[in-house]
Amino acid sequence: MLGLMQSQPLLISSLIEFAERHHGDAEIVSRRVEGDIHRYSWRDVALRSRQVAHALDGLNLLFSDRVATLAWNGYRHLELYFGVSGSGRVLHTINPRLHPEQIAWIANHAEDQVLCFDATFLPLVQAIHAKCPTIRQYVMLCEAGKLPQDSGIPHLVAYEDWIGGQPVSYEWPSFDENSASSMCYTSGTTGNPKAALYSHRSTLLHAYAAALPDVMALSARDAVLPVVPMFHVNAWGIPYSAALTGCKLVFPGPALDGKSVYELIEAEKVSYAAGVPTVWQMLLGHMAPNQLRFSTLKRTVIGGSACPPAMIHAFREQYGVEVLHAWGMTEMSPLGTLCTLKNKHLALPPEEQMKIRLKQGRAIFGVDMRIVGGDGRELPWDGKTSGDLHVKGPWIVREYFRGEGGDPLVDGWFPTGDVATIDPDGYVQITDRSKDVIKSGGEWISSIDIENVAMAHPAVAMAACIGMKHPKWDERPILAVVRRPGAEVTREELIRFYDGKAAKWQVPDDVVFVDAIPLGATGKMLKTRLREMLKDYRLPTA
Ligand code: ADP
Repeated sequence: MLGLMQSQPLLISSLIEFAERHHGDAEIVSRRVEGDIHRYSWRDVALRSRQVAHALDGLNLLFSDRVATLAWNGYRHLELYFGVSGSGRVLHTINPRLHPEQIAWIANHAEDQVLCFDATFLPLVQAIHAKCPTIRQYVMLCEAGKLPQDSGIPHLVAYEDWIGGQPVSYEWPSFDENSASSMCYTSGTTGNPKAALYSHRSTLLHAYAAALPDVMALSARDAVLPVVPMFHVNAWGIPYSAALTGCKLVFPGPALDGKSVYELIEAEKVSYAAGVPTVWQMLLGHMAPNQLRFSTLKRTVIGGSACPPAMIHAFREQYGVEVLHAWGMTEMSPLGTLCTLKNKHLALPPEEQMKIRLKQGRAIFGVDMRIVGGDGRELPWDGKTSGDLHVKGPWIVREYFRGEGGDPLVDGWFPTGDVATIDPDGYVQITDRSKDVIKSGGEWISSIDIENVAMAHPAVAMAACIGMKHPKWDERPILAVVRRPGAEVTREELIRFYDGKAAKWQVPDDVVFVDAIPLGATGKMLKTRLREMLKDYRLPTA
């Protein structure tokens, strides 16, 4: 017997219709590429996303055709989120920090038909357009009539000209909720990038889940600043969850430095912000020497790579901001776990609570997980035994776009490539990426643990721990360190700093001072590149 409830498909267009009807006057504020501040409301987003849909129809784009973006977080990008997916096309957000060759490769692989880009990326588009034969319309996200002279880019139109004359009413089509809505390529530190292809259903389920109280806890009372880029896993789904809750959105545009982000948080009374640790590092780096405080910021989600304990402490103790440590990946839309306490933890002393907060958190409903050993057998949730973390659920990939890389699943589970422990309460602690784990004398050393200790040293701006070949121990850890400007610290001091903080055999054998640690396109440390940089390095202990 079937249930007798209405079977309305879960579609992205319903999000923007809801936001318009119920939160039409809630504000959307954007710092533009031009540097000024733009403000309007969810009602305007809805109206202009319908104009986008008309403009796409005008190009005779088919259902599921790909429309690419190379854009910062801003209101026009938001209109494309709803106009492209809502009208049945697939929004392909491209990470502009990738190498131009790789961007061209991705655009061809996705067979993008349209490319919408911020003025910042004009030189990039000029460099690649000849290599992108499938793109038949280029749209620069700028005012009407503001196109550059002789750009050399064929079929180029200004966004405001493109949507300007279009009707403001549009009948959003209804279709199967399993249809593709958007796609995102993984940064591909090895081999060619592969794309996660999200559906309307997966996006809406993820949007519901992300807004839950023990997840991002978004509400119509929040002013939300997604510093995490809209070109990286849909800014962790915040644009969708924001439409569903009707919160105010604040977009930082291209200005991600500490000063600009701080000023925006204060000026727009941001209550909630989300981003990767490197961005918060810049923000705290600006605030401390200038003795600045937050007047409205209450919570921040930090994820994408391990959040150093020192950062969680700084936010909580010095600034009164709650840090929600989150873990996920492109293949998971991206949210997998988020760290909030349970009722029984509230009575614990602060140090005990902090131990929990430092973990990556517990699974969100919709994400099943297990840890397995090398023999494929499931391991216990005892908070000590670590194994490969596998996940499954309705917003986790089943297969990559165009079957790239073959079947990724193992017995129906997606192997995340992360190594983790899970404690009896279900809190996950990521100890490493499987390729970054250091194997010393048959034991595993978590590079994250070693980095976290170093990051608590006042002279350390950034630290990366990698394994180096060793004749006796197989591998031994070394630490690459970037010193804070003007700070002094020696190799010996740093090694002594590990006393009592790590087991003797886990302490790095050496410290190498570097000017910078290479970062990938999503702001994460690129250890593959670091290993190349240090290829001539020899361990003093080897
Ligand atoms: P890419 O794999 O292309 O770098 P993702 O953003 O999908 O891009 O990265 C997902 C990976 O980032 C995870 O598999 C994990 O290794 C790492 N990661 C994400 N969040 C955390 C976190 N809170 N702590 C530790 N590692 C994290």
